[in-house]
Amino acid sequence: MKTPLPESAAELMSQPRWWRVDVPTEIVISDRGLDTVFDLIAARGVKPFFVVDASLRDQPDFARVFEQKDVFAFNASYSEVRTGDVDSLVALLRSRRMDDVTLIGIGGGSTMDLAKAAGICFANPLRAQDYQGYGMEMARGLDVWTVPALNGTGAELTPIAVMRGPEKKLGINNPFAAAGLTVIDPHLSKGAPAFNRFYTMMDCYFHHYEISRSRTSSKDAIADSLDGLELSRYVLSHDLEKWDEGLAAVSAMASLLGGTSSTGGRVGAAHAISYGLSNSAPFLPHSVAVTLAMLALKDVYPDGHAETLRFLELNGRPLPSARAYGIRPRDISAMTRTALGMEKLWQSCFGPDRWKKLAAPGWIASIYETIVNG
Ligand SMILES: [Zn+2]
Repeated sequence: MKTPLPESAAELMSQPRWWRVDVPTEIVISDRGLDTVFDLIAARGVKPFFVVDASLRDQPDFARVFEQKDVFAFNASYSEVRTGDVDSLVALLRSRRMDDVTLIGIGGGSTMDLAKAAGICFANPLRAQDYQGYGMEMARGLDVWTVPALNGTGAELTPIAVMRGPEKKLGINNPFAAAGLTVIDPHLSKGAPAFNRFYTMMDCYFHHYEISRSRTSSKDAIADSLDGLELSRYVLSHDLEKWDEGLAAVSAMASLLGGTSSTGGRVGAAHAISYGLSNSAPFLPHSVAVTLAMLALKDVYPDGHAETLRFLELNGRPLPSARAYGIRPRDISAMTRTALGMEKLWQSCFGPDRWKKLAAPGWIASIYETIVNG
């Protein structure tokens, strides 16, 4: 990255385009927060239906959203999006015949993903769980806008809506799942808990780290992830206990690069291992799962492992514990099966020819043993 880093939302607005991969989402950078969202709603004659993280109710900056007529408050604190949450929201929208609304997802990755999933599932007949996977034939759904209130997930841009289903944690991966428009204002992350801001940036770092080392990702995706890696490293080299406008602006830049680099880019071993952990621990946040995985992958990602330790220490965060989330030795065989199924991620990490030999069941099980006993 050559440009000087922004120290405020206003400076972020004057940054020249900093990503390479083209995305279908219109990107609006603002320092006026939700006023910009409401201005766009009026200017474009959109009929909004808000899908908003319930925890934002306490923040004055978001009060205007909760006063609106059509609001669905999602409790994102305890769980990731479940396929049942998507089905309920779709049923509500259908019962109210809301086929002309724009869903506006405001919150962290889960809330934005819920809006994206409901938007596309609205136009498709089956349950959300039937669309978990890749390359499925789906019709275009409702228009969706995203407004991140936490930076780092990349969900504002990705054509992926991650969901936890009855059998597996897997997203809807479909071009129609991407938002049509996103409004980015770093101020909106001001009220997010320090734990969430720290761990979301950790996940942002892991995404960039893994894509930058991927053997199957596109050249532009790798170039975007190298810039994202630099930016997320910069943010995580600070103590994030207190919110800071400059760091929030840089986090927003890294997050957008997380979205662009996911198009044509693929994460690797740490994410593959994390999916096994997530499937065995319903209350384990995704970002903590990937941290646990990275801490056990010293041999595969030596510098990623060392930096993870450094960022945790700098932020006074203890090493996360898998057992604290209920993961036990008896879960190892199920977790190994889940991780083995993440073929594309292993190919990304080790290469299409070598992965089967390197990501062998015995080795994967030994990684989980390290995590469970750590
Ligand atoms: Zn991740």
